[in-house]
Amino acid sequence: MVGRPTGPPARTTRPQGHDEREDNTMKITVDRDRCVGAGMCAMTAGEVFEQHEDDGRVVLLLTEPPERCADDVEEAEQLCPSRAITVDPAAS
Ligand code: SF4
Repeated sequence: MVGRPTGPPARTTRPQGHDEREDNTMKITVDRDRCVGAGMCAMTAGEVFEQHEDDGRVVLLLTEPPERCADDVEEAEQLCPSRAITVDPAAS
């Protein structure tokens, strides 16, 4: 006998409170000419920064990341040895 699953279908769970329309509270710019490819930004805020596979310099993934990224982005700005990251907190 081939049984059929009983009960409600499986559901994919999502984190409570997750909303794709999160508020953006900052605007980020990067100066790739200043970047020395140290990678601190990608290690600190990997959702926002990555390193280009060819030259290792910064690639900005999100110019206006959600609020939940704010602490990591600010830390990346402070850790960047070449001051290539600028965060404008007034953008909205
Ligand atoms: S931390 Fe600064 S120097 Fe290092 S990859 Fe990021 S932007 Fe470039």
